[in-house]
Amino acid sequence: MSTVAEEVKEQVLKTGARMAAAGLVTSTWGNISARLPGGSLFVITPSGIPYDLINKTDLVVVDGAGRIIEGDRKPSTELMLHTAIYGACAHAGAIVHSHSIYASALAVAGKTLPPVLEDQVQLVGGAVPVARYARAGTADLAVAAVDVLGQGKAVLLANHGLVGLGNTVEEAYQVCLVVEKAAQVYIFAELIGQAAVIPSGDVAAIRESFLTGYGQQV
Ligand code: 13P
Ligand code: ZN
Repeated sequence: MSTVAEEVKEQVLKTGARMAAAGLVTSTWGNISARLPGGSLFVITPSGIPYDLINKTDLVVVDGAGRIIEGDRKPSTELMLHTAIYGACAHAGAIVHSHSIYASALAVAGKTLPPVLEDQVQLVGGAVPVARYARAGTADLAVAAVDVLGQGKAVLLANHGLVGLGNTVEEAYQVCLVVEKAAQVYIFAELIGQAAVIPSGDVAAIRESFLTGYGQQV
């Protein structure tokens, strides 16, 4: 494996530890994958190993059909979900699947997260849809998620959790963090009154100005 591939694996490990420390998952649930240089192979976390105990050698490299290319561990039970998203979304360089509380609450209620916060709209581009219910780890869940994800960056999984996409593992992780925060704020706003949604005309403009003007733009 190339040096860049090794760096991607390090990023996956580091992000797993951060995701667990941030409380976006409980115990061993959730999973992370990333596209390796060349684009046709992917690294994915192993199934059911605590994030603070996963080593580089526990990570599994698979091809687009989910065949194991490298690694002795059983890959995440959501392997089909990850490979289906990579197959449908050329823009996906990495995927983070979390089980965070407020996103999961929306997913249990079957409610879309409307565009309610600036950082959500900047990073995700707008609303986060909910996929129809399908059992975890099944091909049906992969189909359900891809159906509503389209070319978006995040999708809620009914009665389950959240999936965030990014060009990089860091971006996919930031998507999960920001969606979780927006889900919390949306639920709180609905509890004390009625959440106001960002006007649709502003949503595209906010996303565009983020892409062209936010941060250091190196
Ligand atoms: P894995 O531990 O197999 O990755 O599964 C966790 C999970 O989130 C299933 O949906
Ligand atoms: Zn899950």
